[in-house]
Amino acid sequence: MALPSTITDSLEEGLGALVELYREFHAAPELSMQEHRTAEAIASRLRSCGLEPQTVGGTGVVAVIENGDGPVVAFRADTDGLPIEEATGLDYASTATGTLPDGTVTPVMHACGHDTHISAGLEIARLLTQHRDEWGGTVVMLFQPGEETAAGASAMVADGLWDRVPKPEAVYGQHVWPGTAGTVNISVGTAMAMADSLRVTVHGRQAHGSQPENAIDPIVLGASIVTRLQTVVSREVAGSDMAVLTVGTFHAGTKENIIPARAVLELNIRTFEPDVRERVLSAVRRIISGEAQAAGAPEPDVEEMYGFPRCYNDETEAADILAALTAELGEDSVTETRPVTGSEDFGVFADSLGVPGVFWFFNGYAAATVEKGVPGGNHSPFFAPDDVPTTLRTGVRAGLSALFTRVGRDAQSSNAQVAQ
Ligand SMILES: [Zn+2]
Ligand SMILES: [Zn+2]
Repeated sequence: MALPSTITDSLEEGLGALVELYREFHAAPELSMQEHRTAEAIASRLRSCGLEPQTVGGTGVVAVIENGDGPVVAFRADTDGLPIEEATGLDYASTATGTLPDGTVTPVMHACGHDTHISAGLEIARLLTQHRDEWGGTVVMLFQPGEETAAGASAMVADGLWDRVPKPEAVYGQHVWPGTAGTVNISVGTAMAMADSLRVTVHGRQAHGSQPENAIDPIVLGASIVTRLQTVVSREVAGSDMAVLTVGTFHAGTKENIIPARAVLELNIRTFEPDVRERVLSAVRRIISGEAQAAGAPEPDVEEMYGFPRCYNDETEAADILAALTAELGEDSVTETRPVTGSEDFGVFADSLGVPGVFWFFNGYAAATVEKGVPGGNHSPFFAPDDVPTTLRTGVRAGLSALFTRVGRDAQSSNAQVAQ
């Protein structure tokens, strides 16, 4: 069932203001778990809708929109930027800087498009508060910090989120993506990969570069580990299963004629299925340990840096949302897709309650741009939607139509009919 025209008309009337709001967020990104000004701007906007936002999990903002009896549902938007220098050339491009946890000062950019999530989320809140006669129940709006570091959703739950707001029976969320604006993609079942990041410190024995007999060379050992790790995906994972293993950093040594004492390498693993994840992680640990033994070196230290949980779209719920998106946006604008190998901490909200969650993608580039080839995808310094009105309109309509599968007046009257 499509959204009521009172709501879509109101969205069109406010679209110019919404684009302005988006530009303000785009120009002022903040790093993960440091979204102080962003949180303030979100809270003040929610207050202007007559809501009483709460701070949860440091820089998270939550607002409860109550509207009589009915189901409780939650909608999540993430709010952080990335340590990337913007190269879009837009007149509202970011020139912001931030300080990383290690003290490095870095340019900051909304290079993952979370500014579109914030803006669409705020517009959804505005429309829900202004059109109360079109729906019934409670919508919990979750503005989550720290998605890029997998810290924010857990921080909100650990800060007592579910003791402070009504518990939803389903949680919805969305992400902007570099496809054609006006269209959405959704997976039924697994939506995004689990991710595990490990830091491995390989211990050798330091000596003069001319005296290998006195050394255990951690560079040679580290190199063997890197090479052998390439066999995990190719030789231990079934062809029908997905796994990606990338060694992204390898640091060792200070001078060419010193065999150093240690080498540090960091690796990132993506999988879709819990049993494949276990299998890959245990192979990785076995190889690290076995190569160290072969080199006569002490056991390396393996530190879990951080991990993203599974982002799984409950199959029944996702089929309902797929139908709702199709009814609202049209059949040609909705594609059922395979899961993506990127990761998200969105799943934490639904999983912490044991309720269904559904996550989909709304696209951000004009058709002509997609045809030519987009200037960059998420996390690129060139990534920014170039058809902002269509992108935001689609994000708002997609979010509201998902929420309305449970709290919309039409959904409730058809449920009542079924019950009778
Ligand atoms: Zn991202
Ligand atoms: Zn993102």
